[in-house]
Formats: sequence, C-alpha cells, structure tokens
Amino acid sequence: MSAGMDVLAGLEDRVPRGLAEAVSAMPLVDHHVHGSLTKPLTRAEFEEAINEGSPEPIPDFMTQFDSQLGFAIRRWCAPLLGLPPHAGAGEYWEARSALAPTELNRLFLAPAGVAHWIVDTGLSASSVTTPETMARDSGATVSEILRLELLAEKVAARTASPADFAEDFRAALAAAVPGVVGFKTIAAYRCGFDVDWSTPGGRSLERAVARWTARSSTAASRTAASGTALRLQDPEIISFIVHAAAESRLPLQIHVGYGDRDLDLHRSNPMLLLPLLRQAGIRDTPVMLLHCYPYHRESGYLAQAFSNVHFDVGLGLNHVGSRSADVVGEALELAPFAKQLYSSDAYAVPELHLLGAIHWRRSMAQVLGDWVRRSEWSEADAIRVAGMIGSGNARRIYRL
Ligand SMILES: [Zn+2]
Repeated sequence: MSAGMDVLAGLEDRVPRGLAEAVSAMPLVDHHVHGSLTKPLTRAEFEEAINEGSPEPIPDFMTQFDSQLGFAIRRWCAPLLGLPPHAGAGEYWEARSALAPTELNRLFLAPAGVAHWIVDTGLSASSVTTPETMARDSGATVSEILRLELLAEKVAARTASPADFAEDFRAALAAAVPGVVGFKTIAAYRCGFDVDWSTPGGRSLERAVARWTARSSTAASRTAASGTALRLQDPEIISFIVHAAAESRLPLQIHVGYGDRDLDLHRSNPMLLLPLLRQAGIRDTPVMLLHCYPYHRESGYLAQAFSNVHFDVGLGLNHVGSRSADVVGEALELAPFAKQLYSSDAYAVPELHLLGAIHWRRSMAQVLGDWVRRSEWSEADAIRVAGMIGSGNARRIYRL
C-alpha cells in the first residue's frame, strides 16, 4: 500500500502488530480483474458502474452512493482526492470530475499494492484500458486471460462450414496459448450450469454449430455493427469449448454466482458443476471458481472435495463493503488455504481496483487477527496464510 494510507485504521485493538504490518504491506496478485473505462464518465454513468446487478439507470429517488460500495468509496477514496474521509457524494463527484481518466487510474491503481494483474480482456475491449496501460499506470506486471465464448464467436464468424468448427476452434486455442496464462468461461451468463457437461463432438456438435450460425446469420444484418451477431448460448457448444480448453491444462476460470441480472443467479450455483468436475478430462486442469458470492461456502466445499478446484471471493467484497470480513471468514471455513486466491474483479472505475485490495486486507486482518488474539492460531501461521491467499497460490497455479 502507498505510504501514508492507513488501510487498517480503526482495527488497532483487534489485530496483532506483526500481522497488521504484514497484511497491509504484502504485494498482491489480483488473479481476476478488468481495465477501467478510458472516457470521462457522467455521474449517472459512474453510479451505474458501481451497481453490479442492474443494467438500468439508477432511479431518481436514490443515489447508488447510498450503498456499502458507495460508503466505501467515500471513506477510502475521498482522501486520495484531497477530501476528508466520508466526504459527501456531491463533493466526491466534484473532485473526481476534475481529473482525467488516466490521472484517476494512476491515483487509484498504484496504492492497491498489486504486484501483478491477471486481466480478462473480454469486456468491451475498445473502451477500457489495456493490460499494458494498467501495467504503466500501476507499476505492476500483467498477464492475460482469454475468454472462450468470445474466441468461439470469432472462429464461427470465419469458419468455412459447421463441420470445420471443432478443428478451427482447437487451432485458435493453440495459437492463443503462448500469450495467455489461462482461460475463462462465462457459461453462467450464456446457458447456466444445469446443462449436459459431457464432451460433445462429431455430428452432434456439427448440428449444434449449424443451428447456431444459421440462426445468427438471420440476425446478422441487424447486429453486425455491434459484433454480437454470433452470440454463443448453446450449451452443447459451450461444453465443447470448455473441454477443449481444459485439455491445455492451463487454469480454467469459471464465473460463479453474483453478476448482473443477465444471468440466472440460481443457475450459477457451483454445485451444479459437479457433473463437469467429476469427469476425468477435467481432473488435471486447475478450475478457478470466480467471485462465488453468495455461493462461497459451496465453493469452499468444492475446493475441499476436488484437488483441482480453487476459488476467490472477489467482486463480492467490494459490494458488501463493511460486511466483507464475514464473507472472508466464511471462505476460510472448509476450503484448504492453498485453494483460495485474491481477486478484485474490478471493472470500469479504478476505485474498484483499490477497494478490492483494501477490503481484502481489512477482512483478512480482522478474521485472522481475532483467531490469533484467541490463541487459536499463531501469528506466524496467520501471516503465512495471508501470503498464500494474497499471492503465493496464484503464482503457483498460473506459473507466474
Ligand atoms: Zn470479471
């Protein structure tokens, strides 16, 4: 963290000094994160960006600043803009608006204390900062994750016939591998987890691709400009691309749980992935369950039950704010400590890149600090486990 930022303020009585110093200073690996928007935002756009669930404008009767995340922004980000902690939303907005997007990135990214960002570039790539820009603005190193559905859509747009899709997709994956440290699937958004996860192939896959591309070509003239004409939602094709990626043995990130309402939350419960996780073809591929809230306890069970399953509680920590220590405490129940990672899942506004790290550091300090104070854990073990989750596990799994 940057000098002068007391990220554990108010926790002095709860956290032993050695643990406090270690947790506030340790460099993190943020294993799932996105860029920030490169254009200046209106206040309405900013408020929408700090509401993960709804794609609609914030209603007139409220401000999204009146939320856990809004309060955290006013508490922790206001001082970086030269304002007192808890400055009002109007004051915050006025000070923020005076800075250009690049200045905001530099202001908020560096004090997150992240040494390495693993960036998912699959979101509206033209209007968000690139991994190179994130590296420059933060002084950290970067790696990239490749989004499988996006790759499949690109391959389908140029593949000669449905019979060629499988081979073309495998070739595109192989070509991508040297430049990425892992893959990600957003099956949760496209079909949900309650689908047939057996390995499809041959004529059945060919028919599914033919149905997909035929349906899409009728919509192509309307949506070609947006590039979404070939939106992949077919569960059979998604199962194929997941299995094909797993063969590379690179880490496979799976969006789980909380996200915007495009997904059916109850169909993104990771227990629905059991039929996938039980397959021999998946057993030797690191499976990274992302976010997981409110299913982080289910993910903790899966991390205990399957040696290749890992998870994080990113995204949720920013949005539950002052309750984040409880979520971190629950994540530390069943799951082995070698199976958990840090992520912010920050996107769009760089406040989130910083707040992810602050919430994680404060939560770990509180939870582990309480256990050390009660003499159930040694302070040395608490510091060691924080280091595993903060960076060590990610460095091992992604071979950074
Ligand atoms: Zn994400």
